[in-house]
Amino acid sequence: MSKQFDVVVIGGGPGGYIAAIRAAQLGFNVACIDEWKNDKGGPAPGGTCTNVGCIPSKALLQSSEHYEHAAHHFGDHGITLNDLKMDVSKMVGRKNSVVKQNNDGILYLLKKNKVSFFHGRGSFAKAVEGGYEINVAGAASEVLTAKHVIVATGSNARALPGAAFDEEKILSNDGALRIGAVPARLGVIGSGVIGLEMGSVWRRLGAEVTILEAMPGFLTAADEGVAKEALKAFTKQGLKFEFGVKISKVDAEGEGVVVSYANAKGEEVTLAVDKLIVSIGRVANTIGLNPEAVGLQLDERGLIVVDAECKTNLPGVWAVGDVVRGPMLAHKAEEEGVAVAERIAGQHGHVNFATIPWVIYTSPEIAWVGRTEQQLKADGVAYKSGQFPFLANGRARALGDTTGFVKFLADATTDEILGVHIVGPMASELISEAVVAMEFKASAEDIARICHAHPSLSEATKEAALAVDKRTLNF
Ligand SMILES: Cc1cc2nc3c(=O)[nH]c(=O)nc-3n(C[C@H](O)[C@H](O)[C@H](O)COP(=O)(O)OP(=O)(O)OC[C@H]3O[C@@H](n4cnc5c(N)ncnc54)[C@H](O)[C@@H]3O)c2cc1C
Repeated sequence: MSKQFDVVVIGGGPGGYIAAIRAAQLGFNVACIDEWKNDKGGPAPGGTCTNVGCIPSKALLQSSEHYEHAAHHFGDHGITLNDLKMDVSKMVGRKNSVVKQNNDGILYLLKKNKVSFFHGRGSFAKAVEGGYEINVAGAASEVLTAKHVIVATGSNARALPGAAFDEEKILSNDGALRIGAVPARLGVIGSGVIGLEMGSVWRRLGAEVTILEAMPGFLTAADEGVAKEALKAFTKQGLKFEFGVKISKVDAEGEGVVVSYANAKGEEVTLAVDKLIVSIGRVANTIGLNPEAVGLQLDERGLIVVDAECKTNLPGVWAVGDVVRGPMLAHKAEEEGVAVAERIAGQHGHVNFATIPWVIYTSPEIAWVGRTEQQLKADGVAYKSGQFPFLANGRARALGDTTGFVKFLADATTDEILGVHIVGPMASELISEAVVAMEFKASAEDIARICHAHPSLSEATKEAALAVDKRTLNF
């Protein structure tokens, strides 16, 4: 006997659980199926983001940053610490409890919103009159039917060909977040967000970290000025980078891992490390979903094919988040989840891809929204730019962190903000003002004329907006 719902959501990550809550708020009878298990086999909703992504990585970044401050910067404040130690297992335990708080919080939110939660794997069984039948395979087997199905099954780490993850020596993001002791030598393949964040954690705790990158340049998606400043800061901290490499072999047979590769000069070299994090991108996850049963269309990369509104090729079947096109970011998944629930309710849900912020939580943090200077040049857009360094910001000096700057790019004629790029302290928080401004189609002058609290890092944002008109007040 099947259980009848208006909406069934498959996947309880940020895309899925948020879609389920929004659909329930709109009055639908909603089920959410998620298969993630905690270490006791119980439910752990929240997906990659909560279990092995955004949240645990930020917990480890915070702990390792405290350690680095205590080891290298407390002295500047007159604080002396003797016998400083790092208890890695306690740090990882704290990270696990932060994850659990989030898992429990999501279960509470689903219950509060009267979403029926099913712990297990959801798969398409067949199309039935007026909807779809979904099997749930978990501790108990269930059959659910619904007129609308939202697929939010997320993504998995991409492995290097010939170097499968063993999570002991060759690590995906999952293993990278569970390392039990600081490795003396850590290799990272891929200098994207995950590689930089994980590399920073273990470098701060004492590992010698080498990052190998296939692209000839650093952070090519970011504004060139920001990427240059960040690379300078990371290199000064001790992260080692090699760009333009071509990996030929990863050998994990012996004690550690030996990576053979051709460097940018074409020379064959090797890197011996104790552990290797492979962070070369992620692949859409439709394992076990059984899309063939209903004819759900995937593209050649395994992504579920959707239109601009997240509609698939099947009536009533929608897909959101990492399993569809677009940036693999938790907040993008959430926005799509909300928009789809609203569209099912006949409303006009909308996601503005032009104002999705990007953040890298290293130190300095990197954040941006809108177009980069190199994109504007390529698009032939006439623009003005303004930049303000944190070195000239009173709050940054008081914090003891003056690395980086805020940079504004505005239309040469209308002054509309086209992009804001930040490298420096709390860039992740500062970027929100720029996102709001761009959503409201603000001009640089709008920001320049708004009163910002003193002393605050946000004054650097105001000053960068003033710099567009060449009239900074503090630089
Ligand atoms: C190390 C790391 C750090 C990151 N940091 C950030 C960050 O700081 N900010 C940011 O925005 N993004 C970050 N991301 C990316 C972010 O985690 C993803 O973009 C986000 O989780 C995507 O959400 P989603 O709901 O689409 O999928 P997911 O979070 O992957 O959730 C999918 C869920 O569906 C479940 N599932 C899959 N198939 C089935 C099935 N058939 N039946 C039942 N359940 C199923 C999975 O078990 C999972 O729980 C990070 C990623 C990693 C790996």
